[in-house]
Amino acid sequence: MMGWTHFNKSVTAVPETAWDVAYDSEFEKSVFNDKNHTLKLKLRIHFRQINPNQLTAPMARVIAQTQGMTVPADGRNVGVYPDADDAAKFIKEWNTAEWLNFINGVKAQASLWNGKFWLIPPDDFSYFDIETANWTNKSGKTITRMNVKCEFELEVVPYAPYAHRAIDVVNLISPNFRSHDRLYSTDDTTNSNYTRQGTGGTVSTTQPTIAHEIGHALGLPHIGVTRGRSQCQLAMVWGKGMPQNAIPALWRGGSNADVCYGTFSATGDINNIMGFGNNFDTENASPWLDRMFLHMNVGQQEYIRILSSMSKWQISLTPALPMTMVFPGS
Ligand SMILES: [Zn+2]
Repeated sequence: MMGWTHFNKSVTAVPETAWDVAYDSEFEKSVFNDKNHTLKLKLRIHFRQINPNQLTAPMARVIAQTQGMTVPADGRNVGVYPDADDAAKFIKEWNTAEWLNFINGVKAQASLWNGKFWLIPPDDFSYFDIETANWTNKSGKTITRMNVKCEFELEVVPYAPYAHRAIDVVNLISPNFRSHDRLYSTDDTTNSNYTRQGTGGTVSTTQPTIAHEIGHALGLPHIGVTRGRSQCQLAMVWGKGMPQNAIPALWRGGSNADVCYGTFSATGDINNIMGFGNNFDTENASPWLDRMFLHMNVGQQEYIRILSSMSKWQISLTPALPMTMVFPGS
């Protein structure tokens, strides 16, 4: 079997800080000519229920009711909690059925990242090849060049210390809660709809919010950052030095500004999973491509050569089957 020694099967990562991006991965080398290698990224998340503070609950309940919100009739607590924009929103105590419903919704959205991309190595990368002898001519051979299927697995773990990240979750009563990558709400398991102005006119999108947040957990920034869009770059410059209320709303928030999600940009930016949409594109495969090189176990000289041709790897959004080359021999 050629090439096994050049790979690390498992790569594990432990977050260095609470805000670090970390995940494990496993590279599985195929032994069959008709099956690709697989690279699976494995993310362990611990979800923490945020429940209303008990002292303020009776008062919060009355306030929520006077604002016309529906509070639980079974006496469960109600409270307020700040969202990503620091706006106080009403939340209620979790019950078991709601929690299970949320976790199932998270798993369904996480699975959207599984089997979306195939990595195709450049011609001068032979480590994936499987070589078999040609039986009709002993000096001949058949070489099968494998591609890499990108897989993803989310594991929901009960303890924070074992997780790659811990995320707080609120059980919402208020509408329009804005989540961020460490704070989710019950609304996030249903798709959000957006309408934004693009270069070709208005674009309407629908987005699975948790799938977008998992993109961040894998280290992906917003699509305008990845693609270096000019409006987003402007927002990022303004985000560094200027008081945010002096900036027009759509450019506010640095790399989290609306323009970095694709507003005023092409349709393909707005409807990307790291924009406002649900489309996956080649740039979204970078966590797998980057990680592939950590699985290479070769000498330093060779490692530099492989890394320098990283840009020659292709990403396919449809299954890329292994390619077989027959060398007849003499
Ligand atoms: Zn985001």
